[in-house]
Amino acid sequence: VIDACFSGDYEISVKNGNIQLVNIVGFEDYLSCVTVSEMSAEAPKEYIKAQAIVARSWAACLLYDKHPDSDFDVCNDDDCQRYQGVTYSTSDSILACIECTGVYLLDANQNVVPGYYSKCCGGVSEQPEDCFGFSSMGLKSVVDGDLCLTPDNFERWMSLSEEESRQLNCGSNGINTNKYLGKVDETRDYFRWKHSESKSSLAQYLNDKADIENASLVNELVPLTRGRSGRIHQLKIIYSTKNGTTRNLVVQNQYEIRRLLHSSFLYSSAFSVEKIDDSFIFTGSGWGHGVGLCQIGACNLALQGKSAEDILKIYFPDATPEKCY
Ligand SMILES: [Zn+2]
Ligand SMILES: [Zn+2]
Repeated sequence: VIDACFSGDYEISVKNGNIQLVNIVGFEDYLSCVTVSEMSAEAPKEYIKAQAIVARSWAACLLYDKHPDSDFDVCNDDDCQRYQGVTYSTSDSILACIECTGVYLLDANQNVVPGYYSKCCGGVSEQPEDCFGFSSMGLKSVVDGDLCLTPDNFERWMSLSEEESRQLNCGSNGINTNKYLGKVDETRDYFRWKHSESKSSLAQYLNDKADIENASLVNELVPLTRGRSGRIHQLKIIYSTKNGTTRNLVVQNQYEIRRLLHSSFLYSSAFSVEKIDDSFIFTGSGWGHGVGLCQIGACNLALQGKSAEDILKIYFPDATPEKCY
């Protein structure tokens, strides 16, 4: 059951036995809906403006490459940007978006910066080279706060004191941002989290998701490379097969790592792992790829009175928001 309201026009067709509904809306109307689908319309106005500007900049750079063989430009899920029509729009959220109509993040050469964002960086945002394999002027890793400590020593990074995590914008600074999350987000602590999986369930995920037929137990998870946010971008999985041989699988990106280690998705690939009996205990940091704007950190900054421009300067220090139409 889909319970959502849409503006604009529709095109309904049958594609491979499924009904395809395409909503035809103008670019600015689309962005206004993305903004309150990604986070709540209750979020502060300056947050909504910052979110609209990054969503617009992301779409300008990446939208037309996402679904080249389909008869729509952009899907409604996290693969592109979350879009739930006007379901959650309010007059305040619409006015906030109108205030920043046509504003893009531009780099020093006046090119649009792909405005990546994710729910929670975990304290340091990710370097695009490490995450996506390409660099982009205006996009780089930053510390999300005032802490003089980074994930270089990952174990230490995972055990920050209360005092240390309060110095990070997405850390536990006493403000509860859960009520500002999007309607489909689970409310929990994304800054630091724990998750466990048994050796056999991990093997089953390999069989189901990685085209491996006879994995019976995953025995070791060995991080090979980590990015600046602590996210693992190359992971060696050592598993045994049903006939007792030991094999390795090297997984190459954070998205695939998160997909293979959970029945749906692990929150992020920034984790340390510990084996207890027949299970792996993941202690993790952040939610999403971690590149660009940290939505929870940015929401906290807006709650503390920062303007959209101040917020964008923190996550995109080499870019400037400019009104282009
Ligand atoms: Zn998509
Ligand atoms: Zn953050």
